[in-house]
Amino acid sequence: MKFVFPVIIHGTVWSRLLLAFVLVTLAGCDRHGLNVDQQWKQTSIVSPEKADPLGPEVDIRVLLFQADRVKLTGSDAGYAIWNSDKLLVRVSGQSETTLTFANGSWQLTDKQGLALFSVQALAGNILEIRPEPNSLIAVGTDKTLTYRGRIRCLLQTDNRIAVINVLPIESYLAGVVGAEMWSHWQTEALRCQSIASRTYALYQIHRRQGRGHWDLRSTQSSQVYRGLTGENPRIAQAVRQTRSMVLAYGPAGKEKIFPAYFSAICGGHTENAKFVFKQDIEPLKGRRCPYCKKSAPKDYYRWPELELSKDLVSQKLMNRYSSLKDLKAIVNIEVVQKSEYGRVEKLTLTGSQGLKRTIAAEPFRLAVTSAEKPLRSSWYRLKGTRNTWIFQDGRGFGHGVGLCQYGCEQMARQGSNCRTILQHYYPQAILVRAY
Ligand SMILES: [Zn+2]
Repeated sequence: MKFVFPVIIHGTVWSRLLLAFVLVTLAGCDRHGLNVDQQWKQTSIVSPEKADPLGPEVDIRVLLFQADRVKLTGSDAGYAIWNSDKLLVRVSGQSETTLTFANGSWQLTDKQGLALFSVQALAGNILEIRPEPNSLIAVGTDKTLTYRGRIRCLLQTDNRIAVINVLPIESYLAGVVGAEMWSHWQTEALRCQSIASRTYALYQIHRRQGRGHWDLRSTQSSQVYRGLTGENPRIAQAVRQTRSMVLAYGPAGKEKIFPAYFSAICGGHTENAKFVFKQDIEPLKGRRCPYCKKSAPKDYYRWPELELSKDLVSQKLMNRYSSLKDLKAIVNIEVVQKSEYGRVEKLTLTGSQGLKRTIAAEPFRLAVTSAEKPLRSSWYRLKGTRNTWIFQDGRGFGHGVGLCQYGCEQMARQGSNCRTILQHYYPQAILVRAY
């Protein structure tokens, strides 16, 4: 199931990006593109520091995974490995190879374990794998997935290799939207997801400003990305039709893009980002959603009672957050704050020696949830028994901030266009062209 709950841990106010807007016209867009009407401003973003901050196709850096061994397979003409501007080796055809770093040197071996090259000193400890023309690269640990663009392998201080996909943002989006929504969903819903995901991704690129080695991750902690596996003709069309379009908000002339969060099923009301991500902005305020009730699976819209052992909850919390270890054992958990819509915001944990710690509901949920026993949202009532914690009257799936994906699909089924849906879930936001 394509449920998603992107989480930004560091919800700092992004003040550096002040964007000036220049009006452009988009003749013919309403028929073949977005059904954009006259009220929706059509603008292009120009940064005050640089006339064209993004160019026609900005690249995004996506952390795929971190591992000791990296499997690499080229397609067709194969690939070449570079260090900075120095060509190290060309691997032709569809050869399966493995990249490792051991005993102070990088090694690339073929399927039989024969070394194709070995090198010690590398500028920046980075290898870049570039596909030959009309070729693609598959990369992974056990199984591989195929990606567009280049693959960077960065040696980290723990000697593991961080594998990063660098590619134009529009190509990236095709692999995101297909991983985030069902390709058979309504065209207008796929367009909404394309715009929300593009806005979220661009926000991360600007937030990083080129610092670090990646802009976001390929998992639910950012937004799910599966490279070519996520692509599909309907998805690709939705991305193409919304090309460069993002959401922004703020006073005229000072509009800014924002992290356009989305989650699978809000359960009847979306949540204020203030409570989940510490971002208090108008487009991320809670909105009533009478829609996901009609389209979401019933046991997700209202999920069944979940019972977890007290020992397990205690252990999972301490494993994830070492600062809680001074509680020794958690003997009580109490909901101490709820949002105006009913989601839990804060819980207080009491240790065996009376020490208390307060924890926000989302970090709590992410610590105790599991595939076998999922805590699907922070919208519940908590009851304790002798040995267990019972989560009752649960609603929705995900953090509930921003676009409700199942609600979005239902609005589209009822005939709303992309503009109307986005305006519902991101109040006060406008649609602009980013490049
Ligand atoms: Zn909803």
